[in-house]
Amino acid sequence: MKKILLFIAFILIAGAVFFWFGASSVTKNTDAYIYDLPFKKGASFNIVQGYGGFFSHYGTAAIDFEMPVGTPIYAAREGVVYSYKENNNEGGPYKKYKNKANYIMIKHPDGSFGCYWHLQYNGVVAKRGFVRKGDLIGYSGETGYVIRPHLHFSVKRILNYKKDSYLRTKFRTSKGILLLKRGYVYENPIN
Ligand SMILES: [Zn+2]
Repeated sequence: MKKILLFIAFILIAGAVFFWFGASSVTKNTDAYIYDLPFKKGASFNIVQGYGGFFSHYGTAAIDFEMPVGTPIYAAREGVVYSYKENNNEGGPYKKYKNKANYIMIKHPDGSFGCYWHLQYNGVVAKRGFVRKGDLIGYSGETGYVIRPHLHFSVKRILNYKKDSYLRTKFRTSKGILLLKRGYVYENPIN
């Protein structure tokens, strides 16, 4: 009996570890463009879910920056505001909140889209026209399908949820130009 309980405990713990640290496969396509981190210069934030994470990034090349509600978000790349939503004020770790996220999408000069998700209520600043890289575009929040406040960022070539519609993106960080990984903190360099 004791052995069976130990075995069950082992499976549960291994499953939890796999869920938390594991990842599904994502696209191998990496954008040639070098992005800026989408927050203030000198600030740093932790990646709580990376590419392919099992909470909500299954097959998805997206990253989640953990940050308090109301953190200013800056454009990681220039482009034209394509669409936004800011009138949602609900969020939580349940699928029923999936369509409750506030967001902004910016269409880049090469036709790809920068997607900034879970913004706070009335948290969109850039609502039309052209934004330069580094312009203030909104404020982070916890709307939609979230466990805790964060910014979800992804770049898509096509606006659907297929694996190969996404692109992996390199960022300029204080430690060099990198693809970002879960569990690491990245600083936006001052210069
Ligand atoms: Zn996410």
